[in-house]
Amino acid sequence: MIRGTPTGWHYLPTLIAALCAGALPLKTLAADPAPLPIFDAHLHYNWEPVPYYSLEKVLALFRQQNVTGILATSRPNDGTRALYEAKPKGLKVVPFIRPYRVRADIQTWMDDPSIQELIETEYKRGYYVGIGEFHLSGKAAASQWVRRTVNFAVEKNLYLHAHADDEALEILFAHNSDARIIWAHTGFSTAPEKVAAYLERHRALWCELSYRQGIAIGGKLTAEWKALFERYPDRFLLGSDTWVNERWDNYGSTLSDYRSWLAQLPRDVAEKIAFRNAERLFAGRDAVSESSPPRRTTPETSGKQ
Ligand SMILES: [Zn+2]
Repeated sequence: MIRGTPTGWHYLPTLIAALCAGALPLKTLAADPAPLPIFDAHLHYNWEPVPYYSLEKVLALFRQQNVTGILATSRPNDGTRALYEAKPKGLKVVPFIRPYRVRADIQTWMDDPSIQELIETEYKRGYYVGIGEFHLSGKAAASQWVRRTVNFAVEKNLYLHAHADDEALEILFAHNSDARIIWAHTGFSTAPEKVAAYLERHRALWCELSYRQGIAIGGKLTAEWKALFERYPDRFLLGSDTWVNERWDNYGSTLSDYRSWLAQLPRDVAEKIAFRNAERLFAGRDAVSESSPPRRTTPETSGKQ
């Protein structure tokens, strides 16, 4: 209980006058806002050969970085299962089946019938939302096993997470025009006007932006990418792509680079790309852990690791 008048209230009229006169920045009164929440739509928690970070450490990193959702895809799938089955509070884990057991499968999965078996066996767990990330270059996408994977995904209402060049992307849609594809890295260097043409042609294509060239130069969002984001605000996603240990070491700086160019977009567009698009895509598609409001991250912990 407070007895009497707190001393600070004596200064209230002075404080209001100072604020009205612009003498005090508002920041001195309010806490720093939480950094923009991020849904990390390209996250590997690889266990082969061994996990780099413990599960506890990975989950703590997500909390620290205000990551509210992840598209989890790991080699082998044990890492994804561990994340999903932990049911972490305040983190939506969207599990994708990775068609790899060991790193070498990247090169051969498209011609390997045992991979299709892996996909179908893993699918039986009942909670997967997609298949990927998988790698395809050019005509390698034309194999019968890739076609079967695409058709399986359509039949089971699964997304595909494809690291594919332009030709392979086109072949995937040619296998089945009902495929729903998250395009990892957005082709790395595909011209923005070609990306726009794909987005027009394929209504179920979403572009993930890790390692994507040309978005910002010297920290400044380029005019062509700003225009693309404003024209298709519902079609882009962010990802960390923690494919090697170094990406875990730099996780904080990867996200702060995203946040710095997102801040140059209108707030509604930035929020869609940061987390709302992924939340919409995966709404109701998995057993979601309890959601919680964005967490506050102090400037000291939001920067480089
Ligand atoms: Zn990746």
